[in-house]
Amino acid sequence: MNPLRSLARNLLLNRLSWNNEVRVKKYLRMLSNPLYFRNHFRYGLIGDEVRIDASTKCQLKCPICPTATGENRERPIGWGNLSFAHFKEFVDRYPGIRKIELSNWGEIFLNPEIEEIIRYGYEKDIELTAINGVNLNTINEKVLEALVKYRFRAMTVSIDGATNESYQQYRVGGNLEKVIQSIERINRYKEQYQSPYPKMVWQFIVFGHNEHEIAEARGMAERLRMLFLPKLNAYSVYSPVRDKEAAKRESGLDATSRMEYKQKNKRYYGIPCSQLWFSPQINWDGKLLGCCVNGWMDFGNVFESGLAECMKGEKIEYARQMLLGKKGPREDIACTTCPYYRRDESLMFQGAEETDSDAKM
Ligand code: SF4
Repeated sequence: MNPLRSLARNLLLNRLSWNNEVRVKKYLRMLSNPLYFRNHFRYGLIGDEVRIDASTKCQLKCPICPTATGENRERPIGWGNLSFAHFKEFVDRYPGIRKIELSNWGEIFLNPEIEEIIRYGYEKDIELTAINGVNLNTINEKVLEALVKYRFRAMTVSIDGATNESYQQYRVGGNLEKVIQSIERINRYKEQYQSPYPKMVWQFIVFGHNEHEIAEARGMAERLRMLFLPKLNAYSVYSPVRDKEAAKRESGLDATSRMEYKQKNKRYYGIPCSQLWFSPQINWDGKLLGCCVNGWMDFGNVFESGLAECMKGEKIEYARQMLLGKKGPREDIACTTCPYYRRDESLMFQGAEETDSDAKM
């Protein structure tokens, strides 16, 4: 998108309340591409993107992550990998889907079929991304090469520290040197294949235990040709920032907690509800979860009943109406349980109950 149009669009969206933002985005998108009309008519999707979790398994033990604590195993998310057979069937059946985000609750590189998934996505001209995040601690050489050879579009690597000492405080069981080595290998393949892909982002969650390393990490990211992206901690009770002014100066963020962000900007930080319309989350086993936060209940199974039946189902339509304020809460709808819907700031900001995928970070 042309930068001026993008700026005008963002200024407009920033002035709107959440539900008006969804309405405006919907019309802007629908007008921008005839394929979107077709996908909306056929599948109830606005756009050409879905999210399918390639793996909900993870090898790290990040202290406040529900994948690491084992909580997700007890919920509909479970512990598993997207099979290549399901991925292929989905891509073949829905040619109107052109973008698939593969990361959410787990580490996609633990999926033993990830190389085939990446290759097939490339053959079908699908834009694959892992923007939600990867830890990149366990990846073999063939997959490193496949990311470049098959033009995997973009990847966010979660690296909250410039030294192993601070990195390992949150990424328990991880090894910063290994991660950096893998990034360097990807960069070498990018030179070999003369390719800009995958675009790489260094995501740095600003905690109290790493706030003194922001500048050093930014320098490392630049040397590795990565975009440096500081992010606010989802739960301010875990390792809160100590020197707020210094952390803001170094990170470029205008807040050091999500509560402060909301007070300053009069909007929530990174609320993902619009995914129900624009990029619905599908679990590795086909359950339609709707958004990347929901781990409580599903809206049917896409691999069993098909995308149209699930996306146009009564339950997800009711959830959308709830989010737009047109219907009241209902017990069998996941959003009813969710702090974002309840606007429950004690759960959203203080970490009284770490149950959403922001805790995966
Ligand atoms: S209210 Fe919660 S579960 Fe519902 S769409 Fe928003 S983030 Fe997802």
